[in-house]
Amino acid sequence: MSDCLFCKIARGEIPSKKIFEDDEMFAFHDIAPKAPVHFLVIPKKHIENCMEVEAGDTALLGRLLHRAAALAKEQGMEERGGRFVINCKEDGGQTVDHLHLHVLGGRPLGWPPG
Ligand code: AMP
Ligand code: ZN
Repeated sequence: MSDCLFCKIARGEIPSKKIFEDDEMFAFHDIAPKAPVHFLVIPKKHIENCMEVEAGDTALLGRLLHRAAALAKEQGMEERGGRFVINCKEDGGQTVDHLHLHVLGGRPLGWPPG
C-alpha cells in the first residue's frame, strides 16, 4: 500500500475537501488554490506521472477526464471554461508524484505559462 500523499487522501487517511469519489477516482479542492475554482482529480491507482501511463490505464484516464469536465460544469465553468493541466516531473513543476489533473477556472488564465 502506497504511503504517497495523494494515495492517502484517496483512502481518506488525510482529510481533504472532497467533491467526488467513486471506486476508481477521487476529486478534491486544491489546498492552495491558484484560481477561484481549483480542484484536482486523481486516479486511485498510484500512477507516478504522465510518463508512467500504461496501455491498460487509457480507459480510466478517459473516464477521469470526462468526470473532470462534469465537475467543472458543476463548479460554474461551463460558460467561460478554464484550464485542465497535468504537470509532469521536474520541468513541469510536479510536486506530488501521483498523477493529478488540475482543473482551474473562475478567472482569465494567462498563456503561455511561465
Ligand atoms: P503539482 O505541483 O502539479 O504536483 O500539484 C500539486 C498540487 O497539490 C498543488 O497545487 C498543491 O497546492 C496541492 N496539494 C498539496 N497538498 C495538498 C493537500 N493536502 N490537499 C489538497 N491539495 C494539496
Ligand atoms: Zn499515490
